[in-house]
Amino acid sequence: MALIVKKFGGSSVANAERVFNVANIIVEDYKAGNDVIAVVSAQGDTTDELISKAYEINPDGPSKREMDMLMSAGEQISIALLAMAIEKLGYPVISLLGWQAGFKTDSKYSAARIKSLDTDRLKAELAKRNIVIVAGFQGINKYDDITTLGRGGSDTSAVAIAAAMNADLCQIYTDVDGVYTADPRIVKNAKKMQEITYDEMLELATLGAQVLNNRSVEMAKKYNVELEVLSSFERKPGTIVKEVITMEKMLIRGVARDNNVARFSIIGLPDTPGVAFKLFNNLAKKNINVDIILQSVGRDGTKDITFTVAKNQSKETMQVLEEFKQSVGGQKIIFDDKVSKISIVGTGMETHPGVAAKMFEALYSAGINIQMISTSEIKISVLIDIEYSDLAVQVVHDAFIE
Ligand code: ADP
Ligand code: ASP
Ligand code: MG
Repeated sequence: MALIVKKFGGSSVANAERVFNVANIIVEDYKAGNDVIAVVSAQGDTTDELISKAYEINPDGPSKREMDMLMSAGEQISIALLAMAIEKLGYPVISLLGWQAGFKTDSKYSAARIKSLDTDRLKAELAKRNIVIVAGFQGINKYDDITTLGRGGSDTSAVAIAAAMNADLCQIYTDVDGVYTADPRIVKNAKKMQEITYDEMLELATLGAQVLNNRSVEMAKKYNVELEVLSSFERKPGTIVKEVITMEKMLIRGVARDNNVARFSIIGLPDTPGVAFKLFNNLAKKNINVDIILQSVGRDGTKDITFTVAKNQSKETMQVLEEFKQSVGGQKIIFDDKVSKISIVGTGMETHPGVAAKMFEALYSAGINIQMISTSEIKISVLIDIEYSDLAVQVVHDAFIE
Protein backbone atom coordinates (compact mmCIF):
# COMPACT_ATOMS: atom_id res chain seq x y z
CA MET A 1 0.00 0.00 0.00
CA ALA A 2 1.28 3.41 -0.96
CA LEU A 3 0.32 7.01 -0.27
CA ILE A 4 -0.35 8.77 -3.55
CA VAL A 5 -0.81 12.53 -3.94
CA LYS A 6 -2.51 13.55 -7.17
CA LYS A 7 -3.08 17.10 -8.35
CA PHE A 8 -5.63 17.99 -11.02
CA GLY A 9 -5.52 21.33 -12.82
CA GLY A 10 -8.49 23.44 -13.86
CA SER A 11 -9.00 21.92 -17.29
CA SER A 12 -9.02 18.41 -15.79
CA VAL A 13 -12.14 19.25 -13.76
CA ALA A 14 -13.73 21.80 -16.12
CA ASN A 15 -17.16 20.10 -16.39
CA ALA A 16 -19.20 17.22 -14.95
CA GLU A 17 -17.83 14.67 -17.39
CA ARG A 18 -14.25 15.61 -16.56
CA VAL A 19 -14.97 15.62 -12.84
CA PHE A 20 -16.14 12.01 -13.20
CA ASN A 21 -13.06 11.18 -15.25
CA VAL A 22 -10.87 12.46 -12.41
CA ALA A 23 -13.02 10.62 -9.85
CA ASN A 24 -12.38 7.39 -11.75
CA ILE A 25 -8.61 7.98 -11.87
CA ILE A 26 -8.60 8.50 -8.10
CA VAL A 27 -10.84 5.52 -7.35
CA GLU A 28 -8.64 3.21 -9.43
CA ASP A 29 -5.67 3.86 -7.11
CA TYR A 30 -7.85 3.69 -4.01
CA LYS A 31 -9.34 0.34 -5.05
CA ALA A 32 -5.85 -1.06 -5.46
CA GLY A 33 -5.40 -0.48 -1.72
CA ASN A 34 -3.57 2.85 -1.75
CA ASP A 35 -4.23 5.95 0.31
CA VAL A 36 -5.10 8.84 -2.00
CA ILE A 37 -5.01 12.59 -1.41
CA ALA A 38 -6.11 14.65 -4.41
CA VAL A 39 -5.43 18.37 -4.68
CA VAL A 40 -7.71 20.23 -7.06
CA SER A 41 -7.72 23.63 -8.80
CA ALA A 42 -10.74 25.72 -9.70
CA GLN A 43 -12.77 24.50 -12.69
CA GLY A 44 -11.69 25.73 -16.14
CA ASP A 45 -11.29 29.50 -16.23
CA THR A 46 -13.05 30.10 -12.91
CA THR A 47 -10.14 31.95 -11.30
CA ASP A 48 -9.85 34.36 -14.24
CA GLU A 49 -13.62 34.90 -14.20
CA LEU A 50 -13.57 35.68 -10.48
CA ILE A 51 -10.78 38.21 -11.05
CA SER A 52 -12.87 39.88 -13.81
CA LYS A 53 -15.84 40.11 -11.46
CA ALA A 54 -13.67 41.81 -8.85
CA TYR A 55 -12.49 44.41 -11.37
CA GLU A 56 -16.10 45.05 -12.45
CA ILE A 57 -16.76 46.13 -8.87
CA ASN A 58 -13.52 48.08 -8.46
CA PRO A 59 -11.55 48.82 -11.65
CA ASP A 60 -8.73 50.36 -9.56
CA GLY A 61 -8.02 47.01 -8.00
CA PRO A 62 -9.73 45.64 -4.88
CA SER A 63 -7.80 44.98 -1.69
CA LYS A 64 -5.66 41.87 -1.76
CA ARG A 65 -7.38 40.40 1.28
CA GLU A 66 -10.76 40.47 -0.43
CA MET A 67 -9.22 39.20 -3.69
CA ASP A 68 -8.01 36.12 -1.81
CA MET A 69 -11.40 35.63 -0.21
CA LEU A 70 -12.91 35.69 -3.69
CA MET A 71 -10.31 33.68 -5.62
CA SER A 72 -10.20 30.87 -3.07
CA ALA A 73 -13.90 30.24 -3.74
CA GLY A 74 -13.13 28.58 -7.09
CA GLU A 75 -11.35 25.67 -5.42
CA GLN A 76 -14.14 25.26 -2.86
CA ILE A 77 -16.55 24.53 -5.70
CA SER A 78 -14.32 21.98 -7.39
CA ILE A 79 -13.45 19.98 -4.24
CA ALA A 80 -17.13 19.64 -3.34
CA LEU A 81 -18.09 18.53 -6.87
CA LEU A 82 -15.26 16.02 -7.07
CA ALA A 83 -16.15 14.60 -3.64
CA MET A 84 -19.78 14.29 -4.78
CA ALA A 85 -18.66 12.38 -7.89
CA ILE A 86 -16.62 9.97 -5.78
CA GLU A 87 -19.59 9.51 -3.40
CA LYS A 88 -21.72 8.74 -6.43
CA LEU A 89 -19.23 6.06 -7.48
CA GLY A 90 -19.71 4.59 -4.03
CA TYR A 91 -16.42 5.34 -2.25
CA PRO A 92 -15.75 7.07 1.07
CA VAL A 93 -14.46 10.60 0.54
CA ILE A 94 -14.14 13.95 2.26
CA SER A 95 -13.32 17.37 0.83
CA LEU A 96 -11.20 19.84 2.81
CA LEU A 97 -10.45 23.53 2.31
CA GLY A 98 -6.83 24.61 2.63
CA TRP A 99 -7.14 25.59 6.31
CA GLN A 100 -8.93 22.34 7.16
CA ALA A 101 -6.08 20.42 5.56
CA GLY A 102 -3.63 22.32 7.79
CA PHE A 103 -2.10 24.92 5.46
CA LYS A 104 -0.69 27.83 7.48
CA THR A 105 0.79 30.66 5.43
CA ASP A 106 2.33 34.07 5.89
CA SER A 107 0.11 37.10 5.33
CA LYS A 108 1.23 38.14 1.87
CA TYR A 109 -2.22 38.03 0.29
CA SER A 110 -2.30 36.77 -3.32
CA ALA A 111 1.29 35.51 -3.06
CA ALA A 112 1.37 33.83 0.35
CA ARG A 113 4.05 31.33 1.27
CA ILE A 114 3.33 28.14 3.15
CA LYS A 115 4.82 28.37 6.65
CA SER A 116 3.71 24.99 7.93
CA LEU A 117 1.40 22.14 7.17
CA ASP A 118 -0.32 20.52 10.13
CA THR A 119 -1.04 17.00 8.86
CA ASP A 120 -3.22 15.73 11.76
CA ARG A 121 -6.51 16.05 9.91
CA LEU A 122 -5.14 14.53 6.71
CA LYS A 123 -3.77 11.57 8.67
CA ALA A 124 -7.00 11.12 10.59
CA GLU A 125 -9.07 11.03 7.40
CA LEU A 126 -6.71 8.55 5.74
CA ALA A 127 -6.86 6.39 8.87
CA LYS A 128 -10.62 6.19 8.33
CA ARG A 129 -9.86 5.00 4.77
CA ASN A 130 -11.34 8.17 3.30
CA ILE A 131 -10.20 9.50 -0.04
CA VAL A 132 -9.19 13.08 0.77
CA ILE A 133 -9.84 15.94 -1.65
CA VAL A 134 -7.98 19.16 -0.81
CA ALA A 135 -8.53 22.65 -2.21
CA GLY A 136 -5.27 23.76 -3.79
CA PHE A 137 -3.88 27.30 -3.92
CA GLN A 138 -5.04 28.35 -0.44
CA GLY A 139 -4.25 28.50 3.25
CA ILE A 140 -4.89 30.57 6.33
CA ASN A 141 -2.71 33.20 8.01
CA LYS A 142 -2.15 34.13 11.65
CA TYR A 143 -5.22 36.36 11.58
CA ASP A 144 -7.37 33.38 10.51
CA ASP A 145 -7.81 35.01 7.11
CA ILE A 146 -7.83 33.06 3.86
CA THR A 147 -4.74 33.53 1.70
CA THR A 148 -3.83 32.31 -1.79
CA LEU A 149 -0.43 31.13 -2.97
CA GLY A 150 -0.19 32.96 -6.30
CA ARG A 151 -1.36 31.85 -9.74
CA GLY A 152 -0.75 28.19 -10.43
CA GLY A 153 -0.33 27.64 -6.68
CA SER A 154 -2.19 24.33 -6.54
CA ASP A 155 0.94 22.60 -7.78
CA THR A 156 2.70 23.88 -4.67
CA SER A 157 -0.14 22.70 -2.41
CA ALA A 158 0.24 19.20 -3.83
CA VAL A 159 4.02 19.09 -3.45
CA ALA A 160 3.73 20.44 0.12
CA ILE A 161 1.36 17.62 1.03
CA ALA A 162 3.56 15.02 -0.66
CA ALA A 163 6.58 16.33 1.27
CA ALA A 164 4.88 16.63 4.66
CA MET A 165 3.14 13.24 4.37
CA ASN A 166 6.19 11.54 2.90
CA ALA A 167 4.10 10.32 -0.04
CA ASP A 168 5.33 7.57 -2.31
CA LEU A 169 4.19 9.34 -5.45
CA CYS A 170 3.25 12.91 -6.46
CA GLN A 171 1.45 13.12 -9.78
CA ILE A 172 0.54 16.42 -11.42
CA TYR A 173 -2.27 15.83 -13.91
CA THR A 174 -2.84 18.47 -16.56
CA ASP A 175 -4.06 18.96 -20.12
CA VAL A 176 -0.78 17.93 -21.80
CA ASP A 177 0.91 14.56 -21.34
CA GLY A 178 4.20 15.82 -19.95
CA VAL A 179 6.87 18.48 -20.09
CA TYR A 180 7.95 19.32 -23.63
CA THR A 181 10.96 21.08 -25.11
CA ALA A 182 8.61 24.06 -25.67
CA ASP A 183 4.92 24.74 -25.10
CA PRO A 184 3.35 22.08 -27.39
CA ARG A 185 0.50 24.51 -28.13
CA ILE A 186 2.95 26.90 -29.81
CA VAL A 187 5.55 24.49 -31.21
CA LYS A 188 3.91 21.54 -32.93
CA ASN A 189 7.17 19.59 -33.23
CA ALA A 190 8.11 20.09 -29.56
CA LYS A 191 9.41 16.87 -28.00
CA LYS A 192 8.14 15.29 -24.84
CA MET A 193 10.84 14.61 -22.25
CA GLN A 194 10.84 11.39 -20.29
CA GLU A 195 12.77 13.05 -17.50
CA ILE A 196 14.02 16.46 -16.52
CA THR A 197 16.10 17.64 -13.54
CA TYR A 198 14.68 19.90 -10.83
CA ASP A 199 17.14 22.62 -11.79
CA GLU A 200 16.19 22.67 -15.45
CA MET A 201 12.48 22.43 -14.67
CA LEU A 202 12.78 25.21 -12.12
CA GLU A 203 14.47 27.44 -14.67
CA LEU A 204 11.86 26.64 -17.38
CA ALA A 205 8.97 27.23 -14.95
CA THR A 206 10.45 30.50 -13.71
CA LEU A 207 10.94 31.67 -17.29
CA GLY A 208 7.30 31.09 -18.20
CA ALA A 209 6.58 27.39 -18.86
CA GLN A 210 3.42 27.30 -16.75
CA VAL A 211 3.08 23.52 -16.89
CA LEU A 212 4.50 23.55 -13.35
CA ASN A 213 4.49 26.41 -10.91
CA ASN A 214 8.10 27.34 -10.11
CA ARG A 215 7.61 27.32 -6.34
CA SER A 216 6.32 23.77 -6.53
CA VAL A 217 9.54 22.71 -8.27
CA GLU A 218 11.63 24.58 -5.71
CA MET A 219 9.83 22.74 -2.93
CA ALA A 220 10.05 19.38 -4.70
CA LYS A 221 13.81 19.83 -4.98
CA LYS A 222 14.17 20.92 -1.36
CA TYR A 223 12.26 17.92 0.01
CA ASN A 224 13.30 15.53 -2.74
CA VAL A 225 9.76 14.83 -3.94
CA GLU A 226 9.84 13.13 -7.31
CA LEU A 227 7.10 14.53 -9.56
CA GLU A 228 5.32 13.07 -12.54
CA VAL A 229 3.61 15.47 -14.94
CA LEU A 230 0.95 13.61 -16.94
CA SER A 231 -2.35 13.98 -18.76
CA SER A 232 -5.72 13.40 -17.13
CA PHE A 233 -7.20 12.76 -20.59
CA GLU A 234 -4.93 9.94 -21.75
CA ARG A 235 -3.59 7.05 -19.72
CA LYS A 236 0.11 7.08 -20.48
CA PRO A 237 3.35 7.81 -18.65
CA GLY A 238 4.28 11.46 -18.33
CA THR A 239 7.53 13.28 -17.52
CA ILE A 240 9.47 12.60 -14.32
CA VAL A 241 11.05 15.58 -12.57
CA LYS A 242 13.91 14.57 -10.28
CA GLU A 243 17.45 15.36 -9.11
CA VAL A 244 19.57 13.34 -11.53
CA ILE A 245 18.43 12.02 -14.86
CA THR A 246 19.84 9.29 -17.03
CA MET A 247 19.00 10.93 -20.35
CA GLU A 248 21.84 12.18 -22.50
CA LYS A 249 22.89 15.71 -21.71
CA MET A 250 21.43 17.97 -24.36
CA LEU A 251 22.80 21.38 -25.19
CA ILE A 252 19.38 22.93 -24.64
CA ARG A 253 16.63 21.31 -22.59
CA GLY A 254 13.86 23.64 -23.68
CA VAL A 255 12.53 27.01 -24.77
CA ALA A 256 10.23 29.07 -22.54
CA ARG A 257 8.39 32.31 -23.06
CA ASP A 258 6.86 34.83 -20.74
CA ASN A 259 4.39 37.43 -21.99
CA ASN A 260 3.71 38.81 -18.54
CA VAL A 261 6.46 41.38 -18.94
CA ALA A 262 6.66 45.18 -19.11
CA ARG A 263 9.72 47.23 -19.98
CA PHE A 264 10.53 50.61 -18.41
CA SER A 265 13.28 53.04 -19.32
CA ILE A 266 14.23 56.15 -17.45
CA ILE A 267 16.21 58.43 -19.72
CA GLY A 268 18.69 61.16 -18.85
CA LEU A 269 19.48 60.29 -15.25
CA PRO A 270 22.49 61.99 -13.65
CA ASP A 271 25.62 59.89 -14.27
CA THR A 272 26.69 59.87 -10.62
CA PRO A 273 27.29 57.12 -8.05
CA GLY A 274 24.25 55.83 -6.16
CA VAL A 275 21.60 56.46 -8.83
CA ALA A 276 21.01 52.77 -9.61
CA PHE A 277 21.08 51.91 -5.92
CA LYS A 278 18.43 54.50 -5.08
CA LEU A 279 16.20 53.54 -8.00
CA PHE A 280 16.21 49.81 -7.34
CA ASN A 281 16.00 50.34 -3.60
CA ASN A 282 12.81 52.36 -4.09
CA LEU A 283 11.40 49.59 -6.28
CA ALA A 284 12.36 46.93 -3.72
CA LYS A 285 10.66 48.87 -0.94
CA LYS A 286 7.43 48.54 -2.91
CA ASN A 287 8.03 44.81 -3.35
CA ILE A 288 8.54 45.23 -7.09
CA ASN A 289 10.58 42.41 -8.56
CA VAL A 290 12.95 43.59 -11.25
CA ASP A 291 14.12 41.14 -13.88
CA ILE A 292 16.44 42.14 -16.73
CA ILE A 293 18.43 45.36 -16.15
CA LEU A 294 20.38 47.38 -18.68
CA GLN A 295 22.31 50.58 -17.96
CA SER A 296 23.80 52.65 -20.74
CA VAL A 297 27.33 53.99 -20.66
CA GLY A 298 27.28 57.57 -19.36
CA ARG A 299 27.38 60.32 -21.98
CA ASP A 300 27.41 64.12 -21.37
CA GLY A 301 26.89 63.52 -17.66
CA THR A 302 23.72 61.47 -18.09
CA LYS A 303 22.79 57.83 -18.39
CA ASP A 304 19.69 55.70 -19.05
CA ILE A 305 18.45 52.69 -17.12
CA THR A 306 16.10 50.12 -18.64
CA PHE A 307 14.56 47.17 -16.79
CA THR A 308 11.64 44.77 -16.88
CA VAL A 309 8.99 43.90 -14.29
CA ALA A 310 5.89 41.70 -14.31
CA LYS A 311 3.07 43.39 -16.24
CA ASN A 312 0.77 43.45 -13.23
CA GLN A 313 3.30 45.59 -11.34
CA SER A 314 3.34 48.29 -14.04
CA LYS A 315 1.20 50.76 -12.11
CA GLU A 316 3.31 50.73 -8.94
CA THR A 317 6.50 50.81 -11.03
CA MET A 318 5.34 53.90 -12.91
CA GLN A 319 4.58 55.66 -9.63
CA VAL A 320 8.05 54.92 -8.27
CA LEU A 321 9.66 56.15 -11.50
CA GLU A 322 7.62 59.37 -11.62
CA GLU A 323 8.68 60.19 -8.05
CA PHE A 324 12.28 59.24 -8.81
CA LYS A 325 12.34 61.45 -11.89
CA GLN A 326 11.11 64.40 -9.80
CA SER A 327 13.51 63.90 -6.92
CA VAL A 328 16.75 62.68 -8.55
CA GLY A 329 16.28 64.19 -11.99
CA GLY A 330 15.62 62.47 -15.29
CA GLN A 331 14.31 63.50 -18.70
CA LYS A 332 11.62 60.98 -19.52
CA ILE A 333 10.12 57.60 -18.82
CA ILE A 334 9.40 55.09 -21.57
CA PHE A 335 6.97 52.23 -20.96
CA ASP A 336 6.16 49.24 -23.17
CA ASP A 337 4.12 46.20 -22.21
CA LYS A 338 3.88 44.75 -25.71
CA VAL A 339 6.99 42.71 -25.11
CA SER A 340 7.79 39.04 -24.68
CA LYS A 341 10.71 37.27 -23.04
CA ILE A 342 12.03 34.22 -24.86
CA SER A 343 14.50 31.98 -23.04
CA ILE A 344 16.54 28.87 -23.67
CA VAL A 345 17.48 26.62 -20.77
CA GLY A 346 20.03 23.84 -20.45
CA THR A 347 22.88 22.87 -18.17
CA GLY A 348 24.74 21.75 -21.31
CA MET A 349 25.34 25.34 -22.44
CA GLU A 350 27.82 26.02 -19.64
CA THR A 351 30.54 24.17 -21.49
CA HIS A 352 29.56 25.08 -25.04
CA PRO A 353 30.54 28.42 -26.54
CA GLY A 354 28.41 29.78 -29.35
CA VAL A 355 25.01 28.98 -27.86
CA ALA A 356 24.05 32.64 -27.59
CA ALA A 357 25.21 33.35 -31.13
CA LYS A 358 23.11 30.46 -32.41
CA MET A 359 20.02 31.78 -30.64
CA PHE A 360 20.58 35.32 -31.94
CA GLU A 361 21.16 34.02 -35.46
CA ALA A 362 17.82 32.18 -35.39
CA LEU A 363 16.08 35.41 -34.38
CA TYR A 364 17.97 37.46 -36.95
CA SER A 365 17.07 35.00 -39.73
CA ALA A 366 13.41 35.46 -38.83
CA GLY A 367 13.80 39.26 -38.86
CA ILE A 368 13.19 39.58 -35.12
CA ASN A 369 14.88 42.44 -33.28
CA ILE A 370 16.32 41.88 -29.81
CA GLN A 371 15.59 44.65 -27.28
CA MET A 372 17.41 43.27 -24.25
CA ILE A 373 19.55 40.25 -23.39
CA SER A 374 20.26 38.52 -20.12
CA THR A 375 22.30 35.39 -19.45
CA SER A 376 23.25 33.04 -16.64
CA GLU A 377 25.14 29.74 -16.60
CA ILE A 378 22.14 27.71 -17.69
CA LYS A 379 19.89 30.14 -19.54
CA ILE A 380 19.80 32.93 -22.08
CA SER A 381 16.82 35.29 -22.28
CA VAL A 382 15.96 37.93 -24.84
CA LEU A 383 13.24 40.55 -24.84
CA ILE A 384 11.41 41.07 -28.14
CA ASP A 385 8.25 42.63 -29.55
CA ILE A 386 5.27 40.52 -28.45
CA GLU A 387 4.03 40.38 -32.04
CA TYR A 388 6.87 37.96 -32.84
CA SER A 389 6.56 35.90 -29.68
CA ASP A 390 5.18 32.66 -31.19
CA LEU A 391 7.50 32.88 -34.18
CA ALA A 392 10.50 33.44 -31.92
CA VAL A 393 9.73 30.38 -29.79
CA GLN A 394 9.40 28.30 -32.94
CA VAL A 395 12.60 29.44 -34.68
CA VAL A 396 14.72 29.25 -31.54
CA HIS A 397 13.35 25.79 -30.84
CA ASP A 398 14.14 24.69 -34.40
CA ALA A 399 17.68 25.99 -34.12
CA PHE A 400 18.49 23.76 -31.15
CA ILE A 401 16.12 20.81 -31.20
CA GLU A 402 15.71 18.61 -34.26
P1 ADP B 1 -3.29 23.24 -15.11
O1 ADP B 1 -4.58 23.98 -15.16
O2 ADP B 1 -3.46 21.76 -15.25
O3 ADP B 1 -2.44 23.62 -13.95
P2 ADP B 1 -1.68 24.94 -16.83
O4 ADP B 1 -2.44 25.66 -17.88
O5 ADP B 1 -1.26 25.67 -15.62
O6 ADP B 1 -2.52 23.63 -16.44
O7 ADP B 1 -0.36 24.25 -17.47
C1 ADP B 1 -0.47 23.41 -18.60
C2 ADP B 1 -0.12 24.18 -19.85
O8 ADP B 1 1.25 24.55 -19.81
C3 ADP B 1 -0.23 23.39 -21.13
O9 ADP B 1 -1.54 23.43 -21.63
C4 ADP B 1 0.78 24.08 -22.07
O10 ADP B 1 0.15 24.92 -23.00
C5 ADP B 1 1.61 24.92 -21.13
N1 ADP B 1 3.06 24.75 -21.30
C6 ADP B 1 3.96 25.76 -21.39
N2 ADP B 1 5.19 25.30 -21.56
C7 ADP B 1 5.12 23.96 -21.58
C8 ADP B 1 6.08 22.90 -21.73
N3 ADP B 1 7.39 23.17 -21.87
N4 ADP B 1 5.64 21.62 -21.70
C9 ADP B 1 4.33 21.36 -21.53
N5 ADP B 1 3.37 22.30 -21.40
C10 ADP B 1 3.74 23.59 -21.42
N1 ASP C 1 -6.91 28.26 -9.64
C1 ASP C 1 -5.66 28.90 -9.40
C2 ASP C 1 -5.17 29.61 -10.66
O1 ASP C 1 -5.86 29.61 -11.67
C3 ASP C 1 -4.60 27.95 -8.89
C4 ASP C 1 -4.15 26.88 -9.85
O2 ASP C 1 -4.76 26.66 -10.90
O3 ASP C 1 -3.16 26.24 -9.53
O4 ASP C 1 -4.13 30.20 -10.65
MG1 MG D 1 -1.17 25.25 -13.53
